[in-house]
Amino acid sequence: MSLSQRLTYALLAIPGATIERGIWYLTVAGFAWLALHLVFAKSLANRRISDKPMTFGQMSWEFLYSLRSLAVYGLVGGFMVFAVTSGWTRMYFRIERLGWPWFFLSIGITVLIHDAYFYWTHRLMHHPRLFRVMHHTHHLSTNPSPWAAYSFSTWEAFVQAGIAPLVIFSLPIHPLAFSMFMLWQISFNVLGHCGYELFPRWFVRSWCGRILNTATHHAQHHESNRANFSLYFNYWDRLLGTNHQRYEERFAEAVGEERIRGFR
Ligand SMILES: [Zn+2]
Ligand SMILES: [Zn+2]
Repeated sequence: MSLSQRLTYALLAIPGATIERGIWYLTVAGFAWLALHLVFAKSLANRRISDKPMTFGQMSWEFLYSLRSLAVYGLVGGFMVFAVTSGWTRMYFRIERLGWPWFFLSIGITVLIHDAYFYWTHRLMHHPRLFRVMHHTHHLSTNPSPWAAYSFSTWEAFVQAGIAPLVIFSLPIHPLAFSMFMLWQISFNVLGHCGYELFPRWFVRSWCGRILNTATHHAQHHESNRANFSLYFNYWDRLLGTNHQRYEERFAEAVGEERIRGFR
């Protein structure tokens, strides 16, 4: 493929990737907001993680910052298309080439790579020298709404988008497998910012709760501005001793076992 063709595809991919990821964001965050904050708000009142109100103003800037992040994701998408059409990546297009077992395994491996990537970049962005420039925008939400899923500074949006080139440069992955990973990541991201604890009461005391994170886990990160740095799984925080020491208490409060408000 000639250079001009590759550049044309890459330029077309910029708005294409922005729109595609924007549709996923609007669909998943919109569904969570409609279902949890409007339709079932009353019946789920005892599952609200925080008593702090979510104002229209807060949701507006969370949404606008997310739109800016989507523009960054478009730019990174354009670069990825240029890299793929130039033959620089390990992305493949015929599923039969590596078979269905690898197709599904590649999704699982990508989730694990992203989990590690997120934990370490997130911890780094909490370093006092980096926090204000990189990560402060995301922490403007002390009681985030589902619209905060992509509410990042421009720099952080580039860091968050970095997982995509990292994966396609290092792992043989089919575009459909990559899309399934993207659907998982936006769904879990929105869950972490949804404002409600939807998991059962026994969850954090069970083996699944030792592995999988909850909405309370990430909400507590926004409340305290420290601890609970991990994304999907809890083992990085457990291994590195960065789980909030009151995580289980906060979860118990969120699911209505204790009604002591205000502890952090
Ligand atoms: Zn943070
Ligand atoms: Zn967050």
